[in-house]
Amino acid sequence: MTMRFFNTYSRKLEEFEPRDPTAGPISIYTCGPTVYSRAHIGNFRAYIFEDLLQRHLELRGYKVHRVMNITDVDDKTIRGAREAKVPLAKFTEQFKKAFFEDAETLRIKRADESPAATDQRYVDRMIDMIGELIARGLAYQADDKSVYFRINKFPNYGKLAHFDLTQLQSTGRVKHDEYDKEHIGDFALWKAWDEEDGDVKWDSPWGPGRPGWHIECSAMATALLGDQIDIHCGGVDNIFPHHEAEIAQSEGVTGKKFVRYWLHCAHLLVDGQKMAKSLGNFYTVPDILAKGYTGRELRYALLRVHYRVPLNFTWEGMKEARESLGRIDEWLARLQEKSQEATAERSTPINREQASNVQHPTQKFEEALDDDLNISAALGFLFESIRETNRAMDEDKLDAAPAKAWLDWWKRINTVLDLEPETKIVVPEEVTRLAEEREKVRRERNWKRSDELRDQVFALGWDIRDTKEGQKLTPRAGPG
Ligand code: AMP
Ligand code: ZN
Repeated sequence: MTMRFFNTYSRKLEEFEPRDPTAGPISIYTCGPTVYSRAHIGNFRAYIFEDLLQRHLELRGYKVHRVMNITDVDDKTIRGAREAKVPLAKFTEQFKKAFFEDAETLRIKRADESPAATDQRYVDRMIDMIGELIARGLAYQADDKSVYFRINKFPNYGKLAHFDLTQLQSTGRVKHDEYDKEHIGDFALWKAWDEEDGDVKWDSPWGPGRPGWHIECSAMATALLGDQIDIHCGGVDNIFPHHEAEIAQSEGVTGKKFVRYWLHCAHLLVDGQKMAKSLGNFYTVPDILAKGYTGRELRYALLRVHYRVPLNFTWEGMKEARESLGRIDEWLARLQEKSQEATAERSTPINREQASNVQHPTQKFEEALDDDLNISAALGFLFESIRETNRAMDEDKLDAAPAKAWLDWWKRINTVLDLEPETKIVVPEEVTRLAEEREKVRRERNWKRSDELRDQVFALGWDIRDTKEGQKLTPRAGPG
């Protein structure tokens, strides 16, 4: 079995060879959320792709050690805390909690470690790394007291993004005065404190301030995974400047190649545009649940397209996800029933010749994933198998033993997919509140109001049925 991945660094499909196999598990670093607001489902497309990567490596017998950081200090978190008039840690805490809740709803495996950038251990390491970079002539303190990385002194700068340094323009996002820097592309390693930062500051040899976003990841990644990491992931928007900067800082300090394989997922789009906080075109996980969809359905909708292909989010796509899962559920129920039949009961023996292609699951699903995590092909094979085995069962050409083999096969591939049916339906608070009010007005025999409330519940994606035991809420196939 060989596995290959598209490495952003070389822009080529490369055979996956972990660093020295005696060095321990495969190390993966994934850039985590910036906790200034609730993550949107575009962010979760990236985390689901990383989850798929980890689970497939594990299916293939590798042990994985994955780190996903939490960015809990940067311009946006500081601004948010200031506006909410609460301390930074209190402000970010709610979004950290929400992030883990949403990740659980989407069945994303927890990383082995989720270090926070504000942890003093890592701040100390960031300061050490910056000191080292200055000592090597790779960084300098400017007149504004901030410390910058000197990109001209790092010959490989631009290799990941395939960028020509002379083309670098100001993005207008640099907070500090551009004229303090030697080169427009020099990025901040340490941002000198200013009034807007309030009480968010750490002492350093360069005066009070706070770390830049990029050095946070370099420090946490190398602290927890060592000088060289097998795989580093993120969304394509992380390639430049974030990951380019991570390479420059880490290699600038260690002198060793930082990452063996860089994997980046394409964006989740809405009407052809990146789903982004700044564009206001985003949905959160609770937004999707409020429409009556489950975490499992959203997981499937975000998982089903190859990670390097942009994926357009639509409600139609959510409906398709529900239908596809329905087909899987029906198929499993049928196989279950078939697997319990006593083979001896059959009157005519199976013509094995005729039915051979459905008698034994093959390796095709896993092989598709070996090929740069081609989930679209893997799912294509799953549904082809569903069609063929269903047909064989219709024609009574599949008996208990192969049915059991297909169930075992499903169990194995489901360690990657994690699409077991939802055991409990979570009804959103707003729907529960409306339903309770409806129960009350019905007791008062206010049928008009009762109907209005039913329509409101319907608009939120839920059906109400009146039964002897009271109202029953069920999610509909989704709006629009
Ligand atoms: P952020 O919290 O902005 O740092 O983003 C967290 C992760 O989500 C990063 O890996 C981003 O590349 C990724 N990301 C952000 N927006 C999208 C999107 N629309 N589709 C896919 N990934 C995204
Ligand atoms: Zn990062």
